[in-house]
Amino acid sequence: ATPVGLLTGTGRGAQLGILIKGPQVLEDTRTVDTILLDKTGTVTSGQLSVIAIAAFAPFSEAEVLRLAGAVESASEHPIAAAIAAAARSAVPATSRRSHASHSGSEADDGAGLPAVVGFHSAPGGGVVGTVEGRLVAAGRSGWLRDNGVEPTPAQGQALRAAEESGATAIWVAVDGEAAGIIELRDTVKAGSKAAVARLKALGLRPMLLTGDNAAVAAQVAAAVGIDADDVFAGVLPEGKVEAVRRLQAGGATVAMAGDGVNDAAALAQADLGIAMGSGTDVAIEAADLTVMGNDLGQVATAIELSRRTLATIK
Ligand code: ADP
Ligand code: MG
Repeated sequence: ATPVGLLTGTGRGAQLGILIKGPQVLEDTRTVDTILLDKTGTVTSGQLSVIAIAAFAPFSEAEVLRLAGAVESASEHPIAAAIAAAARSAVPATSRRSHASHSGSEADDGAGLPAVVGFHSAPGGGVVGTVEGRLVAAGRSGWLRDNGVEPTPAQGQALRAAEESGATAIWVAVDGEAAGIIELRDTVKAGSKAAVARLKALGLRPMLLTGDNAAVAAQVAAAVGIDADDVFAGVLPEGKVEAVRRLQAGGATVAMAGDGVNDAAALAQADLGIAMGSGTDVAIEAADLTVMGNDLGQVATAIELSRRTLATIK
């Protein structure tokens, strides 16, 4: 029989916008001592904006954005949404660094972006597809290198500079040649810092886990109060699972909070998988618990609630 306290906990959870897959989930939350937090969309808003574009000759910035935007329009990744939106709002083809937000000043012809065929998405890597007969790829520099795109020394330098600046730097290649860099910026959610403090107060060790580059990860960790040593950057989806496994092998009981397709396997591997309600269906299906809002504070609330519930049963 299910203890009444647990059912009450589940009901109270629902009132607070926390959906729990079964009563045993609350038992699992009690022993959790480590919590891995996915960066994009979990700690940060995931609503990125394009802050700069660089093009390598013979490509223009407008071309880089248009081609990348076309292929990204087929992806549901937060980076993809930002690049496609910027491309739709037709960034002026000037060489200065321009804000590609929704100014709409350079109204494009309204026809939108060119079609993409043969679209393929590599979670934690990037996207590729054929646009106007050219093979366009956009993604993480390591992924493009793995796929045979070699930057010239100058291009590599530009890429490193973009990454070290703390921006999310997306590399664009056309027909196997580096064509440019799109830099994006995300913002830490308003409630994330307080949530991390609450998780620590609950005795949990919060760690940041991201496929993004190390500089971005370090900035976000510092902003929310996660220890610099507790950051895993440049981690592919399988790497996220591996990080959970390694911590478990070291004796930790691990919770993982995430929202993306790239987080699903790690959510399933964790002792307690927590999905953000704003996330993808795949993440929600893989998780034990879903917080309906978009706030990391609800993750702390879920753990507090379960502990209080179990304390009443004892
Ligand atoms: P996170 O762990 O921060 O949620 P992901 O694992 O989804 O990030 O992605 C890791 C990296 O892979 C991104 O920072 C980006 O460089 C690249 N990437 C993933 N999906 C895309 C995409 N649709 N377009 C461009 N780059 C992508
Ligand atoms: Mg994410």
